[in-house]
Amino acid sequence: MRKIDPPAESGGSLPANQTAANGSGIKIFWYGQSCFLIETPGKKIITDPFYNQMGYPMPNIASDIVTVSHQHGDHNAVATVPGQPQVVQTTGVHTFDGISITGIKSFHDQTKGSQRGKNIIFVIQAKGIRICHLGDLGHLLDQPTLKEIGEVDVLLLPVGGYYTIDAGEAKEVAAQINPYVVVPMHYKTEYIRLPISPVTEFLQLYANYSKQKQLDLPAGKLPDQRQQVVLLELASQ
Ligand SMILES: [Zn+2]
Repeated sequence: MRKIDPPAESGGSLPANQTAANGSGIKIFWYGQSCFLIETPGKKIITDPFYNQMGYPMPNIASDIVTVSHQHGDHNAVATVPGQPQVVQTTGVHTFDGISITGIKSFHDQTKGSQRGKNIIFVIQAKGIRICHLGDLGHLLDQPTLKEIGEVDVLLLPVGGYYTIDAGEAKEVAAQINPYVVVPMHYKTEYIRLPISPVTEFLQLYANYSKQKQLDLPAGKLPDQRQQVVLLELASQ
């Protein structure tokens, strides 16, 4: 287990298993396409909410923060999120007590956005854990972008191709970023009609993966090895 320095306000050097028992970790749930709930002890963050007709059951979770990687309907349906969330949809650093969200410029295609426009990569840092959501990334990453992204613990990675990087490119991007946990997103399922590939094309590139209902990230604990693929089941309400 890699140990992460506890945040200053936690007051010191509790062993990882004690901080986990206190419920101070992060949970991540997948609701379809690129929409996740990232639940921290203090705030709920929704990423890339999709429009009603997408096909997936609509998440109905009052949230504090919503991130939008780009202005397409399967990513920016902010009005479907209950509550009065603060919306993060620009590059740069955004801070909310204890949470920082950094938006990094990227593109929805291989041609600097000339076909599908811009995309924002978000690095969300909470409780010492860094989560990177790639949105509809359409290209491999260059060195300056990788430097901006920095160290990543959990990578939320589009794998379905057509509108984004495909399975093979996704594996390359995962290797570029080299996180501990890789969670695929934006792939074909029985719920949707988009011309994208099923997740099997990505999974078959790896020797193994695990399937989980949710990702539990106890504070201070991460897997022993990098690039562990975790397939999240579709969350129910
Ligand atoms: Zn999309």
